[in-house]
Amino acid sequence: MVKKVDHIGVAVANLDEALKFYTEVLGLNLEGVEVVEDQKVKVAFLPVGDTEIELLESTDPEGPIAKYIEKKGAGIQHIAFRVDDIEKALDEMRRKGVRLIDEKPRYGAGGAKIAFLHPKSTYGVLVELSER
Ligand code: ZN
Repeated sequence: MVKKVDHIGVAVANLDEALKFYTEVLGLNLEGVEVVEDQKVKVAFLPVGDTEIELLESTDPEGPIAKYIEKKGAGIQHIAFRVDDIEKALDEMRRKGVRLIDEKPRYGAGGAKIAFLHPKSTYGVLVELSER
């Protein structure tokens, strides 16, 4: 069902600062920056081989990424797995007793259809399913 690691989501306090490390130090290419109003985040994508790093900066002090950093500090926030059919994947998760954060897919950066699984069901990892 899972095709690959689509991306790794990293919560950062300051996107421009963090980008310097990823581009100038690690030498990755910035593919694009996008604001996702729905999730109150500014997102930057940096491809690495067959996957990507997704840097997330909150656009709102009340947004989920701001809250995450407040509670746990900046760092890896979620792992996203690519699936072919997210509706089917969510049905399967439900059938297998996995607790879902999103009962229905919503739109994420890059027009992807995404849904999060609850860390209580995934051994502490916030898992995102992504179809794009
Ligand atoms: Zn993500």
